[in-house]
Amino acid sequence: MTTSTLAAVIYEQGQPAVVETLELGDPGPGEVMVKIGGTGVCHSDHNVYSGYRKTEDLPTILGHEGAGIVEKVGAGVHGLDEGDKVVFAIRPMCGKCKYCSTGRWNLCSPITSHTPTAEFRKNETKYFGGVATFTEHTVVWENNVVKVDSEIPLDKAALVGCAVITGVGAVVNRAKVETGSTVAVWGCGGVGLNVIQGAYLAGASRIIAVDINADKFQYATQVGATDTVDASQTDAVEAIRGLTGGGVDYAFEVIGQPATLRQALEATCEGGTAVLVGAAPDDGEVMIPMRHLFLDRALIGCSAGTGRPRYDFQWLIELYKQGRLKLDDLVTRTRPLTEVNEAFRDMEAGAVARTVLVP
Ligand code: NAD
Ligand code: ZN
Ligand code: ZN
Repeated sequence: MTTSTLAAVIYEQGQPAVVETLELGDPGPGEVMVKIGGTGVCHSDHNVYSGYRKTEDLPTILGHEGAGIVEKVGAGVHGLDEGDKVVFAIRPMCGKCKYCSTGRWNLCSPITSHTPTAEFRKNETKYFGGVATFTEHTVVWENNVVKVDSEIPLDKAALVGCAVITGVGAVVNRAKVETGSTVAVWGCGGVGLNVIQGAYLAGASRIIAVDINADKFQYATQVGATDTVDASQTDAVEAIRGLTGGGVDYAFEVIGQPATLRQALEATCEGGTAVLVGAAPDDGEVMIPMRHLFLDRALIGCSAGTGRPRYDFQWLIELYKQGRLKLDDLVTRTRPLTEVNEAFRDMEAGAVARTVLVP
């Protein structure tokens, strides 16, 4: 049996997404079909849409930051039932590879992952995609979803799967920011705002939000920024050195540009750490003065918040329920899935913190 489902498809990078009806097969062994309840529009989707990051796997179905309800369960699936609320994990969690075995679930080896046997089809066309949440229904490996508290609304839960785990996780799992530290964050989009709220949760003493769009600072302040620097008006590195008397302990680049990664490193104090969270362009390279690293500075990357989805999603949602993790303020617009291209335009214009598409 197949299920008809709307899906946002990229046939050619640099061209608008096409929202159309595809046929989706039933979940095979170890797979589940999820009815999408909400899916956030992340800049990583925009990178595929715009061609900032090239892909050969076309046509591709966008979307990875999602939450929904399990609708069909394939043979041999354990711990997931029809009606369960789930949040998607961007990377699979096979539980067996070197990385899973050493607790580094975010690096789970693609070699051991499972591509669903259920495919999206229209005529003879084969569609690529990850968890493919810019849809009404998707089928994924059981290890790509985490069952979560049934009380959390799906449009808010969606953010936990990427923006929240990526941002908060970069602070607490990867950088391990200590209480009292000073922090600067380049880029106050959906992910950067979660780096800010992660730094707030970690007890950072100073949280400096950097952006070139001053409209973003209202959101940054709402989630815990203590200072703002408009990099379109001022030299951000100088401003941060001035505010902190020599540089921050931790600087997070959450844009994905060589120039801002270099700025982030330069804004750290001696012994400080710069963390690349933004997704690099394919040919992105950055030159750094060797003497910077000599003075005990570190430059590190962070993928998916160095997250352990089965564990981290639960405590993040618990903090949301207690009012300590802000999600309602971050979903500044919801749109139907058919307005995915308008949502990308809002992102380009800096008009939103996060858009959630509700099929
Ligand atoms: P977004 O578009 O919502 O936000 C980007 C922000 O950066 C905007 O507020 C924009 O005004 C600001 N900005 C752009 N150029 C700037 C500059 N030169 N100086 C200062 N600010 C500038 O994007 P997002 O969804 O928050 O994603 C941010 C980045 O994180 C993207 O590169 C995305 O692909 C990446 N990402 C990485 C991971 C990971 O696992 N590491 C996961 C998700 C997203
Ligand atoms: Zn994302
Ligand atoms: Zn693994």
